[in-house]
Amino acid sequence: MFDTLSDRLTSVLQNLRGRGRLSDADIDATAREIRIALLEADVALPVVRTFIANVKERAKGAEVSGALNPAQQVVKIVNEELVGILGGETRRLSLAKTPPTVIMLAGLQGSGKTTLAGKLAKHLVGQGHTPLLVACDLQRPNAVTQLQVVGERAGVPTFAPEPGNGVGDPVDVARRSIEEAKRAQHDIVIVDTAGRLGVDEEMMRQAADIREVVQPDEVLFVVDAMIGQDAVSTAEAFRDGVGFTGVVLTKLDGDARGGAALSVREVTGQPIMFASNGEKLEDFDTFHPDRMASRILG
Ligand code: GDP
Repeated sequence: MFDTLSDRLTSVLQNLRGRGRLSDADIDATAREIRIALLEADVALPVVRTFIANVKERAKGAEVSGALNPAQQVVKIVNEELVGILGGETRRLSLAKTPPTVIMLAGLQGSGKTTLAGKLAKHLVGQGHTPLLVACDLQRPNAVTQLQVVGERAGVPTFAPEPGNGVGDPVDVARRSIEEAKRAQHDIVIVDTAGRLGVDEEMMRQAADIREVVQPDEVLFVVDAMIGQDAVSTAEAFRDGVGFTGVVLTKLDGDARGGAALSVREVTGQPIMFASNGEKLEDFDTFHPDRMASRILG
């Protein structure tokens, strides 16, 4: 992902190399090229507008003297603005003062929530935590078993409704899981919730009800970076319907253009906290805006 965007931006910025002073017209022309590259990569229009306006203003006002030549100065500005739209600093999980910390996952079906639950659990075990996975996706037939499988791989237990007890009420499972976590001294609870293929009211209501019951410290909105422009509208729907405190980008190993996923932070105001780039539990990392910007700018 981001290869085309990366190639385009790198070549636009390379065109400036070896130039002396940059006139306002040079900066405008460069900004136009960057604008096209961002739009072609699916970055949301309002995000592109702000980005370009900031780059132009800063590039035109930049001091010519100093250690950097004009081209390097523009590269630096573009890099800083990119880090800015990606959220600036890395945002860590906020942990509850009194355990357990509750992390709820929300997102469309197929976005990678269940896989992510395993990845996050493994990551947290590596940091010395004792997470409990909670199966509140009782709609998709294999979701509970799938969560139990990733849990086993991550070496953590899964709290799920007992087999034979019918489908079960996800809100009730969520409520009981917190009691179980306290009883068995799990310091973190990761609640997997149901998603649908598209945004729908009932799913939103159920997620909102679970949120109400577990009072999570973090609600992570999990979004498949491969869905392109829909990533932004889906994020807005979840922000309004459930609310979230952070974003997880999944399937960054895919070949989509990726710009929409890069817009989610700026559009929703919530930080991208983790990124997934494969199906294995290890294909996961904390999201670092500066590293992502460097990767994109080559
Ligand atoms: P859920 O419906 O939101 O719980 O989504 P799942 O966790 O079941 O994931 C849906 C599909 O996407 C599964 O086949 C996963 O193996 C796959 N998947 C999840 N995360 C990634 C990722 O980062 N990269 C790739 N390539 N596939 C992923």
